[in-house]
Amino acid sequence: MHTPQAREKWSAALKDIGISFKQIEKILVTHIHPDHAGIAGWLQQQSDAQVLVPRLDLPAWGKYTLPEAEHYEHLYREMAPQGISDDTIWQMVRDIAHINRFNEPYPEMTAIDEGEIFSFGDETCRVLPAPGHSDGHLMFLSEKNQWLFSGDAFLAEHVSQISDWPYSTLEDPLTENLESLREIVLREPALVLPTHGPCFTGAFERLEAIEAQHKRRMNKVLEKLQGEMTLIEVCQAINVRARVLQEFRVSWADTRAYLECLWRRGLIGKEIGETIRYRPKAEK
Ligand SMILES: [Zn+2]
Repeated sequence: MHTPQAREKWSAALKDIGISFKQIEKILVTHIHPDHAGIAGWLQQQSDAQVLVPRLDLPAWGKYTLPEAEHYEHLYREMAPQGISDDTIWQMVRDIAHINRFNEPYPEMTAIDEGEIFSFGDETCRVLPAPGHSDGHLMFLSEKNQWLFSGDAFLAEHVSQISDWPYSTLEDPLTENLESLREIVLREPALVLPTHGPCFTGAFERLEAIEAQHKRRMNKVLEKLQGEMTLIEVCQAINVRARVLQEFRVSWADTRAYLECLWRRGLIGKEIGETIRYRPKAEK
């Protein structure tokens, strides 16, 4: 996020390692969430560096910056069928507009894609896809030391939010996320360096724990689904503990990811009308 505190931290960190802003050549963004990309524009102003952003995250970034009425229309199309009230949708529009102020100034962005390779000190890094947390989320694996810069998609202490809904266009974000993580773990990273929380080793074991947690949560969704329910009703039934709008959004996004995964696996039914309703398989 672009805040005075973040500017101070960057200035102090560069001083610590003894380089100037002008020596920065590339700014790599794992995904476009404001707490990751928000200060990229300011950093670019200080350094003239290239800001490299996942290509598949660019549409979501574009939606954050829509004028209010257009933003509302987009969110309405996504959220109203899931049983979310008009009032809440307007709150979301205003909340994102508020958060978006911490993204300014916007950088000039260069899109990057999976499979690209770039130099990093005396190392080369490979760009790997890790969709789910955001549509285009990328990780960077250094080829000599096997360090994995995992962004928000592979953390030591938390299971990160699955899908950027209502901005996501992924149809089954949970499956896509776990498949990509499995492929990455097969590359045997020696050390995982996430953007929140501590670095860790034992990527394989960590992924197993994450998979088990998703399985538990998905089973809870399956267990609580009775009769025909909207996404919001399922969230209420599983007793989501959220206090502020963005926490509700995370719970809606996660729960929707579980419901879509269950539906695509043929384990539950889904009625797609003006309002989307999910139901246990046995009921029809
Ligand atoms: Zn994030």
